[in-house]
Amino acid sequence: MAVLALSLALLTSVASAAKAQTSTHHEALRGHQIWHLSGEVGTVALELTQKGLLDMLDPSRASGKVRVPFQSLEEARRILQERGVAHQILTEDLATFLEDQERRTKGSTKSESCDPNACPKPFSDSYMTFEQMEWFLKRLCESSPRASLASLGKTSENRDIWMVRLRPKMDPEEDPEGDPEEDAAGAVWIEAGIHAREWISSAVTLHLLEKLLQDTGDIGSLDAYVVPMVNPDGYEYSRMHNRFWRKNRRKTSTRADCVGVDLNRNWDFHYGAGASDNECSEVFMGTEPFSEPETKALRDAMTRVKDQLKLVLCLHSYGQRLLYPWGYSKSDVAPYTDDLVREGNAFVEAAQRSDNTSYAVTNVAAGLYVASGTTEDWSKGVLGVKYTYTLELRDKGEHGFLLGPSNILPCSEEVWAGLQALLKKII
Ligand SMILES: [Zn+2]
Repeated sequence: MAVLALSLALLTSVASAAKAQTSTHHEALRGHQIWHLSGEVGTVALELTQKGLLDMLDPSRASGKVRVPFQSLEEARRILQERGVAHQILTEDLATFLEDQERRTKGSTKSESCDPNACPKPFSDSYMTFEQMEWFLKRLCESSPRASLASLGKTSENRDIWMVRLRPKMDPEEDPEGDPEEDAAGAVWIEAGIHAREWISSAVTLHLLEKLLQDTGDIGSLDAYVVPMVNPDGYEYSRMHNRFWRKNRRKTSTRADCVGVDLNRNWDFHYGAGASDNECSEVFMGTEPFSEPETKALRDAMTRVKDQLKLVLCLHSYGQRLLYPWGYSKSDVAPYTDDLVREGNAFVEAAQRSDNTSYAVTNVAAGLYVASGTTEDWSKGVLGVKYTYTLELRDKGEHGFLLGPSNILPCSEEVWAGLQALLKKII
């Protein structure tokens, strides 16, 4: 009897292993391919992205990498051929590629975890789930009188959009009655995770929160507003179902495969340029400006503190670039561009000294592509914040969005070094 039970158990586990092999959490990417494009890639790649046929993986176009969904393979091939752009298949089937990668790294990577009631440290060896991030943020704010946590609103899947506020540190010896807000030298706004697949951005931001809180220098005299995960629905979807997911998860159409809005095209400043009104596109701008709960929540919170804001920094990946506005136009020059470039170079030099990782200071529209409706453009154009940047973190394309978690700590260190140098110039 015992033998029978054992063999039944074995059979069941063999069956479930076989099932796991045929159907994994990468099914959404089954048949998707990665292509390398060569020739006059720029306009046609953006055009096909706006039509929902391609997903540009390398905004700087240094490697011309694109993801082509299974259902668009033929049409994309035909249009590219007509336009004289050659393509080479780098990955035949993205689902198989990710499954192989997972199998290879299993066992070789440590998997950190934390207790629901105490998650004292942001992870350095793996990417946190959204729930773990919430535990960490709650714990951080309970442990410091300077930090407070507020939900700016709920996503369409009912997750919270958390903002941590760090009040300026006070020296009680010097000014026991002092009001830290009156003494504040201004405020910095940090946003991360607006694009679901850019996992490193939120991981780094959680480490930045700790550094900001521990800082005993001038930076501690600033107010800081930090939203480490703008798009938790998209993030969880990218963790569980589609590693290349970019948008949020609100249903805007009847088509099941065309879900979500590109939150970094949904802000109301030169709305529409470089974006798409096609809901199947990776850069779908939404049905109107601020149509999304995430952008509404951020807009309202930023508007409340706009007079305080000295710097708005939006963390993304990848490409190792510090981008300055405008994104909406190649010809219009943003006010204080010289200052944006000069102080941006202070960031780059300090980041390079920290870990020998090179970043480049680049204009969005001229250096990458026209992109409007971004946090960066809106906070400068509408709120009038002098210094607004989009920071594209590691790497330069070798792993791209699939950047391994061993980068979390070194990347956090170089961004912290860069941010300190930048803030010292600005305040
Ligand atoms: Zn991004």
